[in-house]
Amino acid sequence: MRVIIAGAGISGLAAAERFSAIGADVIVVEKAPGPRDQGYMIDFFGPGYDAADATGLTPRLHELGYHITGASYVDEKGRERARLDVESVADVVDRRFVSIMRPDLERALRDQLPDDVDLRYGAAVTDVVTGPDDVTVRLSTGDTVRGDLLIGADGIHSTVRRLVFGDVELRYLGFHTAAYVFSDPTVHAATRNRFCLTDTVNRQLGFYGLRDGRVATFAVHRSDDLNRPSDPRAALREIYGGLGWVTSRALAACPPPSQVYYDHVAQVELPHWSKGRVVLLGDACAAVSLLAGQGASLGMAGAFVLADALRDCDIVADGLARYERDWRPVVTEAQRAGRSAANWFLPTTRAQLILRRVLLRLARLPIANRAVASGIIGKPSTLVRRLADTK
Ligand SMILES: Cc1cc2nc3c(=O)[nH]c(=O)nc-3n(C[C@H](O)[C@H](O)[C@H](O)COP(=O)(O)OP(=O)(O)OC[C@H]3O[C@@H](n4cnc5c(N)ncnc54)[C@H](O)[C@@H]3O)c2cc1C
Repeated sequence: MRVIIAGAGISGLAAAERFSAIGADVIVVEKAPGPRDQGYMIDFFGPGYDAADATGLTPRLHELGYHITGASYVDEKGRERARLDVESVADVVDRRFVSIMRPDLERALRDQLPDDVDLRYGAAVTDVVTGPDDVTVRLSTGDTVRGDLLIGADGIHSTVRRLVFGDVELRYLGFHTAAYVFSDPTVHAATRNRFCLTDTVNRQLGFYGLRDGRVATFAVHRSDDLNRPSDPRAALREIYGGLGWVTSRALAACPPPSQVYYDHVAQVELPHWSKGRVVLLGDACAAVSLLAGQGASLGMAGAFVLADALRDCDIVADGLARYERDWRPVVTEAQRAGRSAANWFLPTTRAQLILRRVLLRLARLPIANRAVASGIIGKPSTLVRRLADTK
């Protein structure tokens, strides 16, 4: 089987490894000119962790990742107002948990690929022609590639989805988010080995001081605006001004817009994930949003489930149906959990903010602690672990 994968993000790279492992010829085409080095800190656990474990990747993830013990919610003077014990969240998933920068997770996946995977950067999918038994993909390079299956792992704004399934309205959750990495020794000293979040209403900045001396920042604010700003850096400086502590230094150090991730927070819901010889994977069909905090994990696990379904079937359509039947309920549950976490994630009123502080304080008691941690993580799926155990 010859498989074309659109997108060399977490889902696409994981699919490349899995399909190669089941004996397929794999071509990965990626729009970006090379691996992306910008990103944000990802909490990685759940079914994606199980998939990483099954493919021997977890030691490398722990090598590249960070062991974060807690998240501090700080006021405008940098004083801790509340604290989330990350260790207790990790306990709920039996310590099968690692925090890792997205580019490092992609790097680990890329390094794991066998040499015969044809990985092409600077090659965007521009057109898709589907036949009864094959699919032809036109690329921005002018090349055309033919395969037995096209996997659209090209993210929340998927081109494959638009070309094959038509325009789909995203479920907008009412937030904008941004992320960037910058250098500032003062901010780094204040945030080294510490995840710090501003304890604020309707807008929040988060920082983590990386081991290379840089600081990973993420921003989230509520907004009804469905447009993205033409200049994200200017927008961030305006929206997040006046939060105190190290925030003005972090905003001053924001890199040029080309190095800033900026997007709406949204989920993708589709009636079908495949059509003929084209199937969608990861955020392209199943974005859960950063509110659910599991998109990377589900992208990687989805790749595992998809390859497993196709390995065991003679008819491609049957395998694609099995993938969707088994995997959709897990995604739907994560999307629901993400939506219901919105006010916890970013309070809209001072009363909600104080309630969060109280709950986090209560969570220092062991029983309450487990309840809060389970609430944040949701009900984890054991599907990947079961599939891996039967092999
Ligand atoms: C601030 C933030 C924090 C997050 N925190 C977490 C967390 O703690 N835990 C977690 O599990 N998840 C988290 N997520 C979610 C997670 O990052 C995403 O769900 C995940 O990266 C999706 O991976 P993907 O490979 O499906 O899509 P993407 O990462 O979007 O990758 C898609 C790839 O396709 C490429 N592409 C696009 N168009 C084309 C085209 N036409 N042709 C070829 N290639 C194309 C893109 O360049 C890109 O490389 C977070 C997200 C954000 C924004």
